[in-house]
Amino acid sequence: MQPIHIIGGGLAGSEAAWQIVNRGVPVVLHEMRPAQSTAAHKTGGLAELVCSNSFRSDDRDHNAVGLLHEEMRRLGSLVMRAGDANQVPAGGALAVDRDGFSLAVTQALASHPLIEISRNEITELPPALWDSIIIATGPLTSAPLATAIRAVTGEDALAFFDAIAPIIHRDSIDMSVAWFQSRYDHAGPGGTGADYINCPLDRPQYEVFVDALLAGDRVSFHEWETATPYFDGCLPIEVMAERGRETLRFGPMKPVGLTDPHRPGIKPYAIVQLRQDNRLGTLFNMVGFQTKLKHAEQVRIFRVIPGLEHAEFARLGGLHRNTFLNAPKLLDGTLRLKAMPRLRFAGQITGCEGYVESAAIGLLAGRFAAAERRGETPQVPPPTTAHGALLAHITGGHVETIDAGPRSFQPMNVNFGLFPPLATSPSSPLPTLPRMRGRVGRGELRGAVKAMAKRRALTARALTDLDAWAGAAMAAATQTNPLIPVSEGAPVPEPSPR
Ligand SMILES: Cc1cc2nc3c(=O)[nH]c(=O)nc-3n(C[C@H](O)[C@H](O)[C@H](O)COP(=O)(O)OP(=O)(O)OC[C@H]3O[C@@H](n4cnc5c(N)ncnc54)[C@H](O)[C@@H]3O)c2cc1C
Repeated sequence: MQPIHIIGGGLAGSEAAWQIVNRGVPVVLHEMRPAQSTAAHKTGGLAELVCSNSFRSDDRDHNAVGLLHEEMRRLGSLVMRAGDANQVPAGGALAVDRDGFSLAVTQALASHPLIEISRNEITELPPALWDSIIIATGPLTSAPLATAIRAVTGEDALAFFDAIAPIIHRDSIDMSVAWFQSRYDHAGPGGTGADYINCPLDRPQYEVFVDALLAGDRVSFHEWETATPYFDGCLPIEVMAERGRETLRFGPMKPVGLTDPHRPGIKPYAIVQLRQDNRLGTLFNMVGFQTKLKHAEQVRIFRVIPGLEHAEFARLGGLHRNTFLNAPKLLDGTLRLKAMPRLRFAGQITGCEGYVESAAIGLLAGRFAAAERRGETPQVPPPTTAHGALLAHITGGHVETIDAGPRSFQPMNVNFGLFPPLATSPSSPLPTLPRMRGRVGRGELRGAVKAMAKRRALTARALTDLDAWAGAAMAAATQTNPLIPVSEGAPVPEPSPR
């Protein structure tokens, strides 16, 4: 059987490779690192996490990304197996030891008999001999390949900015001022209820900090970058401060659900949280503190925060440019380029956003490509599932504006707004919301209780529909190709103690 070529061994490319070989189809995975790196990657490891070490909420019942985790686990995801095996405490979030995670993915792929890993940069469109290709080169796709892709799509790639947050050495944080506590003592699946380091600010300290942020010297844009907007879920902290002096207190610095044990009678006016970044617990990242302040300014301004006066920074924040296709226009329903169907795209370059979403789209691209190679018809997941909702956003769920101007398709994290409303679900036997009565008060559910009930109903419907879809795909594969079995792959080994 001819191999499927995957370009890019990041989150999406690694997951796609795993899904394909577990369907008995060989893969050549082309990764340009370590010989050629990007502005953000630091290692030669596959699936390197370039910024935060968090896969975000692991709450599968009330959070769309938690639901995506669960769906991926059910679909035999390598990224989730390696993430679960390398988890570090983070309350209700799934955070991982980044080195252990990347090593687990690299080892699982490198040791698979159907995978060849080729360490080379692909600089142009692959030869016609490669009849099935997945391009998963991510937000930092190397320039020559980006140029080649732009040429074949006939469009300019749209770009925007993300900013990354600083990481601090734990032993440089003054714990006579700071303290360990998760918001509302929430333990979550892998936490203790005391997973975050909290630094309190009183009102004068907060005002001084905001003034310093507003006056801080920033990295300036190149001329060609000035019209590039920010992704709203990842605004630099100084840009948030510009939107209003109180914006940070209602965002990453909100003081709720936390009590300062050093001064229990005094309610902090604002709080900076730091989350464990490695298994050893020696590094902590500043939650929500992505920034484009100049490096010297970051050190000066962040040391104003109580508890961080002597902070030593393992990494400072920075900026990066993102590249993604106008996917609703350019890609078909199974992520193939309409103009050249032997090219399929996966990961952030398709216009999803985030580690988990990128891996999930890699999972789907891998399954679609493998089904095609096996002579089966690729089946897309129902839009009621998190995978299907995300795919629908990328491949057509988005409504184009009719006005002239910049195109309106923007990268998106998975969220419940992408799911079809409950009442219109044709397939699910689950109750629709208006009939969900009685558990709280009399009559229909209201407010936050109703919102939570709605999420539970959406997630229950999603998992029912996902299981049915996966079961049908498995049955079709077994029927069409009884001699090429489909498996979920070997388990990822537990990390060795350090
Ligand atoms: C600086 C930065 C910070 C981010 N912070 C976060 C965050 O905190 N949380 C979050 O969820 N997401 C974050 N993201 C988004 C995150 O990168 C993506 O969500 C995710 O890594 C994308 O997965 P991917 O597989 O599409 O791309 P990547 O994981 O970037 O993988 C792409 C791979 O392709 C390789 N490659 C590129 N060009 C070529 C070529 N021509 N030939 C061969 N190989 C090539 C690269 O070396 C890389 O290994 C951040 C992104 C950046 C750039």
